[in-house]
Amino acid sequence: MSEKIHLTGFSTQELADFVQNIGEPKFRAGQIFKGLHERRILDFDAITDLPKALREKLDETATATTLKVESRYVSEDGTRRFLMKTHDNFPVETVFIPTENRDTICFSSQSGCPLKCDFCLTAKLGLLRNLTAGEIVEQIIIVLNDVYGIGAETPHGTNLVAMGAGEPFLNYENLIKALGIMADENGLFIVANRVTVSTAGIVPKIYEFAKLEKRPNLAISLSAPSDELRDKLMPINRRWNIEELLTAAKAVQKTLRRGERFTFEYVLLGGVNDADEHARTLANLLNKHDLQKVKINLIPHNPAEPLEYHPPNSERVESFKGILESRGVAAYVRRPRGRDIYAACGQLAAVKG
Ligand code: SF4
Repeated sequence: MSEKIHLTGFSTQELADFVQNIGEPKFRAGQIFKGLHERRILDFDAITDLPKALREKLDETATATTLKVESRYVSEDGTRRFLMKTHDNFPVETVFIPTENRDTICFSSQSGCPLKCDFCLTAKLGLLRNLTAGEIVEQIIIVLNDVYGIGAETPHGTNLVAMGAGEPFLNYENLIKALGIMADENGLFIVANRVTVSTAGIVPKIYEFAKLEKRPNLAISLSAPSDELRDKLMPINRRWNIEELLTAAKAVQKTLRRGERFTFEYVLLGGVNDADEHARTLANLLNKHDLQKVKINLIPHNPAEPLEYHPPNSERVESFKGILESRGVAAYVRRPRGRDIYAACGQLAAVKG
């Protein structure tokens, strides 16, 4: 399978070139694109508006699917966690999170992750490899088909978050290409403002991102108000420290468009970064940098062995939130989803027994 071309990761232009090269008329590219992305059919033979001979020709040289679902867990809150494997046997994790009014799919941009955030289980894997654009897109198609059936309507629309395994900005080109394919109105039609990309702080890419014309919402994982603590919790801070990170954030804030969301994520680790003093320092830091348009998502840590961190109790969380709000910083607490199946933030790569 590996030597076959993965058409699910092709843009419409690449598909047009591909069909021309195999001697087919150009309009076939549109049919193939719609078949794969709008109708979510990952099997050429089932795209029956293509002539049989073309379907056979496609099967010889190309493939629509390279990911295999190895296991799937359904949480009591409806969250679904998918463990997949690439054709060359690398793990990929994807999580479906339903709420009353919308669905969110949390996808992976890398297999494993090279960053060593101390509170994250994926970090223990190290980087296995970057995912291709096709592997990113395919995660979404597989999940939607599992939940709703092949090609069936998705009643709530779909939000995407690049918060699964991996640092998306270390696989920037493939990520941006995949998001472009998924935004196409002849395909999944999940446009940029329904997508959030979360970075641990790859500063040069934040500046590059700020220049994008159609860009998704940005989230920056901060999780500590001082370099001393952040160096320990998120070692990427030793490469780009808080001052550099917040200066880049300021550049994004300057170019924010209407309706665009910009958030900082702050994982609350009991007894580590959740004291009132941390909250005060954090609020002062954001105010000093004039980052008033940024909201803070507080994420109580999700326990995952062998990590030794634990979540703060709810009074501590409320106190932390209250201090931020009293200093003019908008703060929200993210409710954990799918904890029982290890699908919550920071728990990916934990094997459910
Ligand atoms: S929190 Fe994100 S960036 Fe950090 S190690 Fe985990 S997957 Fe990588």
